[in-house]
Amino acid sequence: MTISAVAQIDTLAPPRRYAEVIGDPIAHSKSPLIHNRWLRMLGIDAEYRACHVGPAELGAYIAARSADPLWMGCNVTIPHKLAILDYVDAPADVRDRIGAANTVYRAAGGSALAATNTDAGGFFGPIADVPLAGAHIVVIGGGGAARAVLFALAQSGVGEVTILNRNVLKAGLLLSTFGLKGRAQPLDAKLPADAALIVNASALGMTGQPPLDLDLGAVDADCIAYDLVYAPLMTDFLAEADARGMPVIGGLEMLIGQAAIAFELFFGSPPPDGDDAALIAALTG
Ligand code: NAP
Repeated sequence: MTISAVAQIDTLAPPRRYAEVIGDPIAHSKSPLIHNRWLRMLGIDAEYRACHVGPAELGAYIAARSADPLWMGCNVTIPHKLAILDYVDAPADVRDRIGAANTVYRAAGGSALAATNTDAGGFFGPIADVPLAGAHIVVIGGGGAARAVLFALAQSGVGEVTILNRNVLKAGLLLSTFGLKGRAQPLDAKLPADAALIVNASALGMTGQPPLDLDLGAVDADCIAYDLVYAPLMTDFLAEADARGMPVIGGLEMLIGQAAIAFELFFGSPPPDGDDAALIAALTG
C-alpha cells in the first residue's frame, strides 16, 4: 500500500477523542493498557496513548494539544509533575496543596485546562480502612509521589512522620509544607521500631534504579510495607517485609486507583466495576 493510500484511509476514519500519558521516559508506562481496556469494556469510542515529551517540549506539547478539541487531557509523569503547573489555567489549588500534578484535563469540558493530583487518592485507597490516626509513619523519598503521599497522610491525622531521603533538607521542608511533625533523615538512618506504615515513595528499587537498602530488623511484624514502585511488582523491600510476616502492598493498586480518578475526568464515566483482579492479571501477565 502506498503512503498516500494510507493517508486516504486515515482521513476516512472518524475523529476520536483521546487522552495521553506524557513523560520522559514513557515507554514503560502501563497507563495505556489500563485506560484502553476500560474504554473497550465500556464501549467508549476514544483512545489513550503514550507520548514521549522531553523537558524542553512541554510548553509546545500543551499549546498544540489544548488547541485540539479531540484531546481530553493527559496524565503526567517524570519529570513533568511540577513543571506542568506553569501551563494550566488555574494551578493555585493543586500548587498550594500538593505542589505536584499528575493529571491535566479540560475543566467542565471547556477550553480551560485544570490540573489535579490523583496520586493522593490512589495512594490512600488500599489503606483507607487502616487506623492511622496518631500512628508513626515512615516515608522514603521527597519527590512528586512523596508529596502526594504526605498530603494524604496529613488528611488522615497521622502522628509522627519520619522522612528518609537523599536530600535531607528537601525532606525537612516537606514536613513543614504539609504541617506534619516528625524528622527528616538520610537514607541509611535506622528505622523507628514503632512504625505502623513504611512507604517507599522514592525511585529506589525500581528497575534500572539503585536498590533500596532498608534494615527491617527493628520493625514490628504488624507494620505495613507499602511500595509505590510497581516495576518490578515484588520489589526487594516488599520481598523482605513479606518474609518477615509484615503485610505488604505493591504499587499496582495505587496505579489502578489513580488511573480510575483520571479516567472519569477524561472520559466522563467511572471505570467498569469488578475488573481489578482481571486487570492486575493483565498487567502482570
Ligand atoms: P521524582 O519526583 O523524580 O522523585 C524521585 C525520588 O527518588 C526523590 O525523592 C529522589 O531523591 C529519589 N531518588 C531518585 N534517584 C535516587 C538515587 N539514585 N539515590 C537516592 N534517591 C534517589 O519521582 P516520583 O514521581 O516521586 O516517583 C517516585 C517513584 O514512585 C517512582 O518509582 C514512580 O514510578 C513511583 N510512582 C508510583 C505511582 C503508582 O501509582 N504506583 C505513582 C507515582 C509514582 P531526592 O529528593 O534526594 O532527589
